[in-house]
Amino acid sequence: MKIGFIGVGNMGGPMCRNIIRNTNHEVVVFDLNPAALKECTDLGASSALSVAELAKGCDVVITSLPTPRIVEDVTLGTGGVAENARPGAVFIDLSTNSPATAKRVNEGMKAKGIPMLEAPVSGGTSRAKDGTIVIMVGGDSQTFEQQLPLLKSFSGEVVHVGDIGMGSTAKLINNMLAFCNAAAAAEALMMGKRAGIDLHKLDSVIRNASGMSSGYANMATKAFKGEFQPTFALDLAHKDLRLALELADDLGVPGLIAPQVMSLMRMARGMGLGGQDSSSVIKVYEAALKEEVRA
Ligand code: NAD
Repeated sequence: MKIGFIGVGNMGGPMCRNIIRNTNHEVVVFDLNPAALKECTDLGASSALSVAELAKGCDVVITSLPTPRIVEDVTLGTGGVAENARPGAVFIDLSTNSPATAKRVNEGMKAKGIPMLEAPVSGGTSRAKDGTIVIMVGGDSQTFEQQLPLLKSFSGEVVHVGDIGMGSTAKLINNMLAFCNAAAAAEALMMGKRAGIDLHKLDSVIRNASGMSSGYANMATKAFKGEFQPTFALDLAHKDLRLALELADDLGVPGLIAPQVMSLMRMARGMGLGGQDSSSVIKVYEAALKEEVRA
């Protein structure tokens, strides 16, 4: 098969390269960033000059793009996937979107005879690289079964959650929980710092005790090293939490904890940290208390 991959950044790049490494499919890539493209063409992919050129020649078109607006532009806009892919080609979106966007894009694709799976992913760049990323899929069973071998070629766990919209729903709920854990971890680590406890010993306790979560582990690793270059940008995390809060409102579920985390992210973005890693929310505590959690 010929696979087209649009958006080969922090997440799309390693997932695309795993398809190249682990399958015999021919892979074509498109991205606005030439450096991101090169990492894939160096491994054997060819590159297209536009979304339209890529979509015209592929059996499956995959996207991993930053925001719902960009996903809609690239799929339903002029020169986009719906306009150019052949009927019968399959579209798979790995980006984190709202369920409403996934449904809108699906309608546009359906009108052109293009079956779609929404397939957001979780596990961060390290698991995207080692091919153990979790994929939560919304879409019809037939398309899911047909595309399962391709999805498994870059994932450790593929879960068919339900119809279109349910993949995004699972993803937003998961991320809301992860961001709450990460924010609590930032607060906990600042308490440890203020208490004067050996932070590595505190870390050993938490990693083996009930406070452990992947949100904690990621926060501690990045804060201790002071490494905040983005593997998952704060701007993207803020987008995800905004979508999760909208979903909670749509469902009539009163948010108590997640809106507090949203305020923390807003403070961090107000400090100019939107382009840094999402773990940089700890800098709000560090700025307030004038000390850093490094160890
Ligand atoms: P990223 O910014 O690193 O990568 C996005 C890529 O899309 C970039 O290379 C960019 O140049 C490209 N791009 C943007 N607009 C484009 C366009 N119009 N046409 C072609 N290419 C375009 O972002 P990322 O961290 O890889 O995230 C991608 C998606 O995955 C997002 O929806 C994000 O929420 C989600 N996600 C990210 C993580 C993570 O840990 N980074 C984890 C799970 C899910």
